[in-house]
Amino acid sequence: MSFVNGLRCRECGREYPKAPAAGCEDCFGPLEIDYDYEAIARTLSREVIASRAKNMWRYHELLPLDGEPVIGQASGGTPLVRADRLGRELGVETLYIKNDSVNSPTLSFKDRVTAIAINKAIEFKLEAVGCASTGNLANSVAANAAAAGLPAYVLIPENLEKSKITATQIYGARVITVRGNYDQVNRLCSEIADRYPWGLVNVNLRPFYGEGSKTFGYEIAEQLGWAAPDAVVVPMAGGSLITKIHKGLKEFERLGFIKSEVRTRVFGAQAAGCNPIVDAVKRGSCEIQPVKPATIAKSLAIGNPADGYNAASVIAASGGWAEDVTDEEIIAGIRLLAETEGIFTETAGGVTVAVTKKLIKQGRIKPDDLTVIAITGNGLKTLEAVELALPSAIEPRIADFERTVAKAATN
Ligand SMILES: *Cc1c(COP(=O)(O)O)cnc(C)c1O
Ligand SMILES: [Zn+2]
Repeated sequence: MSFVNGLRCRECGREYPKAPAAGCEDCFGPLEIDYDYEAIARTLSREVIASRAKNMWRYHELLPLDGEPVIGQASGGTPLVRADRLGRELGVETLYIKNDSVNSPTLSFKDRVTAIAINKAIEFKLEAVGCASTGNLANSVAANAAAAGLPAYVLIPENLEKSKITATQIYGARVITVRGNYDQVNRLCSEIADRYPWGLVNVNLRPFYGEGSKTFGYEIAEQLGWAAPDAVVVPMAGGSLITKIHKGLKEFERLGFIKSEVRTRVFGAQAAGCNPIVDAVKRGSCEIQPVKPATIAKSLAIGNPADGYNAASVIAASGGWAEDVTDEEIIAGIRLLAETEGIFTETAGGVTVAVTKKLIKQGRIKPDDLTVIAITGNGLKTLEAVELALPSAIEPRIADFERTVAKAATN
């Protein structure tokens, strides 16, 4: 049962049928799913949602599938954890981590968008799936394609972390390494989508794919007791997730699931080595000036973000802001989250924690703002970013143990 009327261009309003499409044929604007919200409001309530299993499909009326999901059934439903120790460190009283580093099946928020896209590919009877990826999407497409029994063609820039490449190949996906950066990989993917009857999840399935990210926002609100946070800090690559979190909160307001007006300020986080959306926000503009990425936060290294315009405009309209941080600050952010909260995140999470610290210092996030940090990926995938010296071995003797511990204490 679907509540989708069709697709509609966000810029010019032209309507399209429910079918694979990359963007508007007239104006190249992004296509949005057009839902029948009145019908959804008659069917869905807080009580109905709360009675369902704890995964992203508990909100299925607000997602663009026609039938039941046949892969990715366990995606979403990740913890929202109170982070008092990190909060004290950063100077904010009420801090939460939305922890998608434990998402299923591949330990990043991309499992939400891929679950939608691969199920759509199955519904559209497409012969194969694929994507242009900065790493996490590659892992998730490969895993879900394997579970669906579909061939997967995954295109990546050549400088990705080895663990992210291995964690794609292992599922039997065809990994195609392209000499170039993500933006060049993405252009190649658009040509492939024009030529083959395949579902390129972030190209011709993009209008559907992005909707999976709304569940990140729905879960935050539900886990806060059907309330919206004052501030949410979100890492940005293509700029989709941040807009969809905001959209999800606004939909909950519209449906009456959040009783008061949603006034959440959304804050965007990027690495200084790839900051085109932050740059636009700081210029007071929504026009993106593309950059050449150079950062250890490879999962965020998109120099010409597809949803950059929309991200900058949502940030500004919400009263939020955007900041960037250096590679050293990213590593410090990863360590701070691990040491205070016991959560090991990848470089994107280091960006988000370090940017949150900056925003609190700047006074843009106030000590009494109920703040949520979006942790979107797992640290075990980017070990090379934080390589620590290995401890040297001791003899299996108590005296050696005590000498080593005493030495560590004086260091
Ligand atoms: C892709 C990705 C993001 C950003 O997503 P966009 O929707 O492209 O902005 C954030 N964090 C991680 C770990 C990612 O892999
Ligand atoms: Zn249009």
